[in-house]
Amino acid sequence: MTGSQLPISEMEASILHDPPRAGSHHVERIRDLAARLFAGRAEGYDAAAEFPAQDFDDLYRASLLSPCVPERYGGLGLGPGHDTHTLWLMTVELARANMSLARCWEGHVNSQVLIAALGSNEQKERWFEGIVSRGDIWVAWSGEPQASVPGQKTAFGTSLERAPGGYILRGTKAYATSAGHARRAILLVNAAGPGGARHATASADDLFLLGCDLSQPGVSYDSSWWNPIGMRATVSYMARFDDVFIPEEDVIGRSGQYLQESWQTRFSPHYAATFLGGAEAAYEYALASIHKQKRAGDPYVAHRIAAMSLNIETAHLWLKHVADLWDCHPIEEAKAAAPKVRYLIERLATETLDHCIRACGARALLKPSPVERIYRDLSLYVRHDNADHVLATVGQQLLGEKHDHSFFDPARDASGNGASSASSPSTESSRIPVARTASLTAREGRTAGPSLHGADT
Ligand SMILES: Cc1cc2nc3c(=O)[nH]c(=O)nc-3n(C[C@H](O)[C@H](O)[C@H](O)COP(=O)(O)OP(=O)(O)OC[C@H]3O[C@@H](n4cnc5c(N)ncnc54)[C@H](O)[C@@H]3O)c2cc1C
Repeated sequence: MTGSQLPISEMEASILHDPPRAGSHHVERIRDLAARLFAGRAEGYDAAAEFPAQDFDDLYRASLLSPCVPERYGGLGLGPGHDTHTLWLMTVELARANMSLARCWEGHVNSQVLIAALGSNEQKERWFEGIVSRGDIWVAWSGEPQASVPGQKTAFGTSLERAPGGYILRGTKAYATSAGHARRAILLVNAAGPGGARHATASADDLFLLGCDLSQPGVSYDSSWWNPIGMRATVSYMARFDDVFIPEEDVIGRSGQYLQESWQTRFSPHYAATFLGGAEAAYEYALASIHKQKRAGDPYVAHRIAAMSLNIETAHLWLKHVADLWDCHPIEEAKAAAPKVRYLIERLATETLDHCIRACGARALLKPSPVERIYRDLSLYVRHDNADHVLATVGQQLLGEKHDHSFFDPARDASGNGASSASSPSTESSRIPVARTASLTAREGRTAGPSLHGADT
């Protein structure tokens, strides 16, 4: 086998798995499922814009649906702060087969991260039992874009009202990934005004994380809103909440905690893992296509293949580096790396797709080529954040300026409030009770790292 034919899994092993990690067998098991079953189903789910329900059933049967549920509750105990790299490599493997599946998985496992870190013991007992014993699917929904776009018919936004024993939720959210298939959601709702976590202009201190039973009659979906170019199988519909009651005992953590402690920084690299999986699949297609067409002798093709391979290796090295920061370094270093890895891997993955298409030609963009779908999926998914703002955030960090390393909003600072509300450069260290986070880690029996893993998720 020539170097250029080295399968991605061996490439990962050769540069990254040294010494073998405790969790590498989880990656191998998910790689096997993804290659044998999920990759073959991806085209059908995409064409029908249908949630990958069978894939989730298979993950559940393989006991792989609770990766971030702590071991004492029956899960694998992974997540930012404990073998982070294994978790992110599992996501890469799913995305190699189907990026939509990986996005639904991200929402599910990121919710586990939040419950494990911020939930009460009673919530963990109740909700983790549902995931481990019944395969309950979770999501985290924040999206309430406030500025409308041409042709938009509905405005998004939620409101929260105090009621005896809990809260009444009303309104709509966009981008409700896994809609109709998720059993429960973490809803990010700002009690002081619409916008959720990402789009709110009200104080970040009023942001609530609400555990919501989505089987309630007041929860409904508008699928007509979701007719996108890519990521179709994420079924990220518009969700409507009509007088939905959220009991007090289903409020997760304390209001404001999500942004004050920058939990989104655990999830930005996770999106990047999905971009990387898509890029790997395109690279594999390019190798197969070029060999089949016997064009390996073309020096321009060799350039493209080299560039793709180097991009993927670089992306993997970054992912591993940031995973190690979460597991073994001060939490501030790991948080500061979130925009860097998010920005770089978007660039490396989109460049890789471009190289693949230029090397392989038009038929790479014709079904049944998976590159046709990956190209559409990646085009949409990278819009989840604004790369210009992500890069600007890296620059603002370097310059000691105020910045928002959760959502990269130029109008916000690190606490999620309007940038004008703070007078000095904002740093996480002045705001985050690091010791408290570390004690949470210990409580869950996690041994490594000072941080716990930590929605728009
Ligand atoms: C496939 C997919 C799945 C998703 N799943 C989920 C999910 O499960 N949960 C969830 O909560 N969200 C989810 N999202 C939504 C995501 O979090 C973002 O909210 C969404 O992508 C932003 O949508 P938008 O670009 O349409 O709107 P906008 O947020 O309005 O952005 C439009 C443009 O304006 C820019 N902009 C916005 N605010 C400002 C500002 N203050 N100053 C300057 N420029 C600004 C943006 O950067 C962007 O370029 C998903 C998105 C995608 C694509």
